[in-house]
Parts: sequence; C-alpha cells; structure tokens
Amino acid sequence: MKVTVNDSCIACGACESVCDVVFSVEDKAVVDEGAIAGNEDCVKEAADCCPVNAIEIA
Ligand code: SF4
Repeated sequence: MKVTVNDSCIACGACESVCDVVFSVEDKAVVDEGAIAGNEDCVKEAADCCPVNAIEIA
C-alpha cells in the first residue's frame, strides 16, 4: 500500500485522530511510510474521514 497526502490537506487533524501511528499533522498531514504495514485498516478509515479527500491510497 502506498499512501500520499495531496495539497488539498487543511491540517484538520482527523487522520491523526483515527490513525496516529501512521499520520502526524503539522502544517499538513505527514505519512510515516514505515508504519503503514499492519495498519492498513486505520489508513483506510483515515482516508474515509478526511473532509477534503486529501489521502490517496495506491
Ligand atoms: S484528515 Fe485530511 S485534511 Fe485533515 S489533516 Fe488529515 S489529510 Fe489533512
């Protein structure tokens, strides 16, 4: 799974709330790529929670 955050991110913090092991939010959400394996379910949940659909999963 490849996870990226596009420029639509408004740094709302929702992804970090549901999946803080993978996402951290400063001026925009940052993905810890090394933490994705084993946490795919919460990554998908975070993508669903993002209000601007900024989380792209490939
Ligand atoms: S939920 Fe979406 S808009 Fe909010 S911080 Fe995460 S990536 Fe950015």
